[in-house]
Amino acid sequence: MNKDDLKARLILSLRQQGIRDMRVLEAIEKTPRELFVADAFKDQAWDDTALPIESGQTISQPYIVAYMTEQLDVQPNMRVLEIGTGSGYQAAVLSRLARRVYTMERHRNLLNKARERFEKLGLNNIVARTADGEKGWPEAAPFDRIIVTAAAASIPKALLAQLAEGGIMIIPVNETPMYQRLVKVTRTPEGFEREKLLPVRFVPLMTGVARAQ
Ligand code: SAH
Repeated sequence: MNKDDLKARLILSLRQQGIRDMRVLEAIEKTPRELFVADAFKDQAWDDTALPIESGQTISQPYIVAYMTEQLDVQPNMRVLEIGTGSGYQAAVLSRLARRVYTMERHRNLLNKARERFEKLGLNNIVARTADGEKGWPEAAPFDRIIVTAAAASIPKALLAQLAEGGIMIIPVNETPMYQRLVKVTRTPEGFEREKLLPVRFVPLMTGVARAQ
């Protein structure tokens, strides 16, 4: 199959799995996932599977990226914070929907590679930094949307504090050491509302910046 057929097959599969937001489907279609995976996995880039990236991390399954992005309900005027840049794929998808994307990664080598990809694709509304995402990005807060792409034992307080009123956060929270559930947090004038979404499997959210390898 050529690339256009592989793309069409993925988009069809996402629709069949219930993704309805055309803006999300279009953002996925326009983001060349083959640029975000290692050469050895390029032929699987348009499959609906998670794939390994450097430093023992993973690029999420396209369905999960689409689902989380749809649940995040990003509007064009919004500023979005992502914790866990990884390959940069999720940030690239978000950058087509938001005004600005702030993305944080604890592995410097991953962040540098992701940055090169953003530059290559001309995605200049993404700012990326190597830092501990559990602390958020206080100078740029509050954020309209926050997405965490690593699994947390509990929702970091700093991230709740940096969510704007009316804002939404999507985060995988551990139910057992291996399995998590996506939780959608909405900040209301009275406090925080929580809604449980899909069960998922993500790599863990770690504390602190990784040591150079
Ligand atoms: N969103 C990524 C996939 C992320 S995998 C993509 O689209 O490719 C999860 C990432 O979270 C890993 O790269 C891991 O290093 C990072 N991570 C884990 N704990 C972190 C923390 N405290 N701060 C920042 N990044 C963290």
